[in-house]
Order: sequence, then C-alpha cells, then structure tokens
Amino acid sequence: MDEPVAEQMIEAEYTLESMVLCPNCQEGIENIHVVRMLRTKVNFVSGLPRRAQILVCPECKAVLAAYLGSLI
Ligand SMILES: [Zn+2]
Repeated sequence: MDEPVAEQMIEAEYTLESMVLCPNCQEGIENIHVVRMLRTKVNFVSGLPRRAQILVCPECKAVLAAYLGSLI
C-alpha cells in the first residue's frame, strides 16, 4: 500500500470538534495534520528547541500555524 509522500511525513492528525474553513483553499476541514520540523542549523548561543511542529491543512498542505517548542 503506497501512501502519498505527504501522508508519510505527517507526525499526527487531530480531529477538530467542528468544521473550519482553511484560509488558503477555503475547503471545510475537520482535521489538522501535524508535521514535525527538526533543527538542522543553529547558532551555538541559540536557545531554540531541537524540534518543533507546524500545523497544515490536510487538503492543500498550507501551513496554518507553526510553533517553536512543544505543543504540550
Ligand atoms: Zn487548505
């Protein structure tokens, strides 16, 4: 079973309690995909975290929000 590359790269999927409109594609979406980003370059004095997450629309893959740090 071959999944699209984008499906393999998501870390998680969250179901929304109500449908919302994606601001990019205007589609009604009922879930949000979470994609992890890993730090690959950093200034040695930086206090930025090693990993972070972005939230993307499952339909058009537009970035809806990004966090540097844990979502928890
Ligand atoms: Zn979208």
